[in-house]
Amino acid sequence: MADTVKTTRTTRAGSMREARETSPTSDTRTRNTTRRAPQPGPQTKALHAERERYLPRGLSTYHPVYPATASGARVVDVDGNTYLDFAGGIGVMNVGHSHPAVVAAIHAQTDAYSHTCAQVLTPPPYIALAKRLTEITPGKFAKKALLINSGAEAIENAIKIARAFTKRPAVITFENSFHGRTNLAMGLTGKVRPYRQNFGPLAADIHAIPYPYCYQCAFNRHDGACCHSWEVALERAFLTRVAPEQVAAILVEPVQGEGGFVVPPAEFLPSLRAICDQHGILLIADEVQTGFGRTGKLFAVEHSGVIPDLIVMAKSLAAGLPLAAVVGRADIMDAPLPGGLGSTYGGNPIACAAALAVIEVFAHSGLLERAQTLGAATLARMRVWQKRFPLVGDVRGLGAMVAMELVRDRARRTPASGETAALLAEARTRGLILIKAGLYDNVIRLLMPLVTTDEELAEGLDIMEESLAAVSAQPASAFNGAH
Ligand code: PLP
Repeated sequence: MADTVKTTRTTRAGSMREARETSPTSDTRTRNTTRRAPQPGPQTKALHAERERYLPRGLSTYHPVYPATASGARVVDVDGNTYLDFAGGIGVMNVGHSHPAVVAAIHAQTDAYSHTCAQVLTPPPYIALAKRLTEITPGKFAKKALLINSGAEAIENAIKIARAFTKRPAVITFENSFHGRTNLAMGLTGKVRPYRQNFGPLAADIHAIPYPYCYQCAFNRHDGACCHSWEVALERAFLTRVAPEQVAAILVEPVQGEGGFVVPPAEFLPSLRAICDQHGILLIADEVQTGFGRTGKLFAVEHSGVIPDLIVMAKSLAAGLPLAAVVGRADIMDAPLPGGLGSTYGGNPIACAAALAVIEVFAHSGLLERAQTLGAATLARMRVWQKRFPLVGDVRGLGAMVAMELVRDRARRTPASGETAALLAEARTRGLILIKAGLYDNVIRLLMPLVTTDEELAEGLDIMEESLAAVSAQPASAFNGAH
């Protein structure tokens, strides 16, 4: 549990809502810095004890903080502490917590009806959303969309569809990737601990090759050449493990999310597209974390001009309601037999109504530009930290998908996993929610709502800087062996 909150920052929900309605960058929110925040308060303590008692340890949590309300970029906990939220429920709240347009759409749909099941009576919001998704995704060809409940479920369906269309079994995926926790998604995920460990047997005919992660090169090369080694590895995989004509799909995150916000070189996606075209392999983009504005485009593949055959999305699609989608070429999407796709809750009308509202917010509120501004300002600040704190080994990002990788030894790039965990705790006690990522759990990743104001961004970055200073001031021995 956290000790005490050193700084308290609160904002009135009403004024936040007004501010968001007028402009995503407006700084008119009222701050009440005088309110004292007991931390952890009695309700937090009680809830934490119950969490430990009733929830399995496999469902770990970054922070012992229990929300009561949330609005914009702020979360208020059950004891009245206010936090700036730079995690957004792991990239789900791109339009901000409790966006009024989304809340109104949810209310309206809930008043009308909440469920019929698309396979029994298809809710019109399902059809409306499918149409909108085919319009806003890259590619000018005929498309169709399947709606389901989670990122992992969408990944599973994308692979099913690709196999049914190509009549091929194999899938190429990447090391250090994350695609979810169901069996097939786990098999596609390129990190053993904790995602795959002890959960076998995993699905067969999945072949992982290194992602171009130049800072922590899989081939231990730091001369930039590793950024092309994935191509060599793929050619070898085609010779040693699976013939290309057996491969249904290559599944790729345009920027690796859980892997530590790894931004590949510009030529990566175009090269993948060319390889897919050469061998009749489908290209599936996993935009679960990169999608819906995070990188400054609605979908991260748009930065490359590459058009995937299928795009998988979830997270910020419905601003917190469980909803995911597979969107792609109509002929591919139509490959499974009638009844081969579906799920009881998939495309639930309330979630669809929320998603339609999210798409409208993106169409009219300048959030894509805001993502670029937030990301650029954050990267600039992180570059200053990189000069000041040896702990900051690498800073990187695309749009507002920004991260810094912490290392104990810059020359060897030794992951500073313990220091990263300590930084999360330091920031929390100062009122900022951060999360980490990375193969070595040593990357601080920022997924702040795109409605975060300039003032809130400065406040959050100030807290990060204070926290970095506090962690850097401790001897390395304080973290040895920590994870
Ligand atoms: N794919 C990516 C890139 C993700 O980041 C995630 C979740 O973090 C998933 C798939 C799985 O999504 P879900 O947790 O909704 O199953």
